[in-house]
Amino acid sequence: MSKADYYEVLGVSRDASDQELKSAYRQQAMKYHPDRNPGDHSAEERFKEASEAYQVLSDADKRAAYDRYGHAGVSGSGQGFGGPFGAGVDISDIFGDLFGEMFSMGGTGQRRTQRQQRGDDLRFDMTVDFEAAIFGYETDVKIRRQEPCEACKGSGSASRRGPATCVHCNGRGQVRFQQGFFSVARTCPACGGAGQVISDPCATCRGETRVTKELKLHVKVPPGVETGTRIRYAGEGDAGRAGAPKGDLYVVLSIRSHEFFQRDGHNLRCVLPISFPQAALGAEIEIPAIGGNVTLKIPEGTPSGKELRVRGKGIPFLNEKGSGDLIVKVMVEIPKKLNRAQRELVSQLAESLTVENKPASASFLEKMKDLFS
Ligand SMILES: [Zn+2]
Ligand SMILES: [Zn+2]
Repeated sequence: MSKADYYEVLGVSRDASDQELKSAYRQQAMKYHPDRNPGDHSAEERFKEASEAYQVLSDADKRAAYDRYGHAGVSGSGQGFGGPFGAGVDISDIFGDLFGEMFSMGGTGQRRTQRQQRGDDLRFDMTVDFEAAIFGYETDVKIRRQEPCEACKGSGSASRRGPATCVHCNGRGQVRFQQGFFSVARTCPACGGAGQVISDPCATCRGETRVTKELKLHVKVPPGVETGTRIRYAGEGDAGRAGAPKGDLYVVLSIRSHEFFQRDGHNLRCVLPISFPQAALGAEIEIPAIGGNVTLKIPEGTPSGKELRVRGKGIPFLNEKGSGDLIVKVMVEIPKKLNRAQRELVSQLAESLTVENKPASASFLEKMKDLFS
């Protein structure tokens, strides 16, 4: 079930503008369009992936849900991706000005210049109590991350002069040398390819421009999360080097198990022992449920193993209203260690039972008769 990240599919950054998304999608769609790749299955898959990614990311609401919860946040709207473009994508919008643009591109600066190295994304694993996962909750967590160095204001140099152009490579990051007929380029050994060097490194960060810090982050867990749910905090990851943008922080949840309830999608399940008289005569039993007790009605003549449903007492849906159900499986307890008087009563009961009292045995015996006659 691991789906590719929508941003990666389109090859754009997480803060890509609508225009960037559109042109990235246009490029992918041009490249992988089934008409241009007849019979190429993997191209068709890429085309569908790109269409799905664009459909989600071009919709502000869906994009926000995706950013926060990943694929789980938009999986509810999974229908309609079947067609090559998916619903909601206006084809003329995408391809309308395509040819004009192809000519105007003509090798001029459309290609993005090398991006500054964005800070790393961070992952924070968090274990959440069973009830907290159902109702949602908020807490502060401590995280360690790279922050811009305060001593040098992120410049990396003690005098705050910042980095200077590497004299060895003249800022190119590469040095060329002749090898026979060939001119060979190598990463500049003086600056490691950065094209810049810090001659007076800051004492605090040693010229790194960043330092590791521990800080508090407020985490808000929405109701209805499950193990594996990811919450994204944009720009709460590591700071980039020398003022480059920050990465993101992902809080990844795992949910503690419960002694009485088990989760089954949005339903909750539990097993409830009931007495033989309760099963035979029917009863109303108060049972614990998430958010307070509920009354469970056991109908007269309930067989052991029967599942009874309490509507709306399950787990709230993540992105819409309503909740799943509580499903109670009743197990009839057969009385043990009967005393003399009790044995007498059960014997009397047994003698008084007729065929109508035990429909399952009756039909079983009927079948056996057919088998051996
Ligand atoms: Zn250099
Ligand atoms: Zn510093």
